[in-house]
Amino acid sequence: MIEKKPPLTIRLCQPRGFCAGVDRAIQIVVLALKKYGAPVYVRHEIVHNRYVVEGLQSLGAVFIEELSEIPPEHRQSPVVFSAHGVPKSVPADAEARNLFYLDATCPLVSKVHKQAMRHQRLGRHVLLIGHAGHPEVIGTMGQLPEGAVTLIETEADAATFVPADPAALGFVTQTTLSVEDTAGIIRALQERFPQLHAPAAESICYATTNRQEAVKETAAGANLYLIVGAPNSSNSRRLVEVAERAGAAMSLLVQRASEIPWDEIGEISTLGLSAGASAPEIIVDEIIDAFRQRFDVTIDLAITATETEDFPVMRVLRDVELTAADMAFVNGAA
Ligand code: SF4
Repeated sequence: MIEKKPPLTIRLCQPRGFCAGVDRAIQIVVLALKKYGAPVYVRHEIVHNRYVVEGLQSLGAVFIEELSEIPPEHRQSPVVFSAHGVPKSVPADAEARNLFYLDATCPLVSKVHKQAMRHQRLGRHVLLIGHAGHPEVIGTMGQLPEGAVTLIETEADAATFVPADPAALGFVTQTTLSVEDTAGIIRALQERFPQLHAPAAESICYATTNRQEAVKETAAGANLYLIVGAPNSSNSRRLVEVAERAGAAMSLLVQRASEIPWDEIGEISTLGLSAGASAPEIIVDEIIDAFRQRFDVTIDLAITATETEDFPVMRVLRDVELTAADMAFVNGAA
């Protein structure tokens, strides 16, 4: 007798997964490999996802943390800077070493850099709301001279920060923060410093906002919420927190289907599913397949926003054709 599988509704968020900045960064590495051949060096994980990194490694990308790791015989090979952005000292170092670099910094991170520089130009001390040690924070702080930026991580930091001139302050934020937590920190700063200048445009990016909103709308009543993403992916970790706060009974971050803790899950009837901005769709498919093996799955697609953003690669790579097959390792078969 064929055993009947229990029913399971998967509330699948849309939008989820790759954002335009991540897509562009991966395309840059793939196109550089096609145009210049292997090796192509990549400074830091191009995006925070091991699957993506390993896929690019198998195509000939070599991941490094510092430019000094590029051996002299490969000085002609291109080096790509990751989507998170880099301090100004990095392109300067690349130029001093006569390296050919391709900057895959997301245009929305570059926009935050410009906003921070604008505050400084207008004589303001810059407050950067973000997480210490994250490469995006290191990159944004590195746009300005030492001492020009203070990192504010929490409302407690906002309460204790002592400025030289309370009337000359401007803030920017990391692009991948929790929308709610950041609003709390900004409120706390504004109460203390009413003249605090906001950036001319919102720093938290569209992809972060949309993915958090989708999870928020679908979390209530979910027995389990799975977020596909890496532990070092800021936006993915925020999604896990959002799911829990918005009412999911349990919320977990998983990198692959093999990490799903089946014993802990027990009996469930509703699963929420989304993916961080650096998580490939092919893993979302893998996870749905894993549930299909154990449950009679119904997909309930929760469309909360339509994204049309598309960031073109730099001019020097536009003469190389990018095919669906080139990106199949992350997007799955077309
Ligand atoms: S999460 Fe936002 S800022 Fe980061 S790469 Fe994607 S679009 Fe750009």
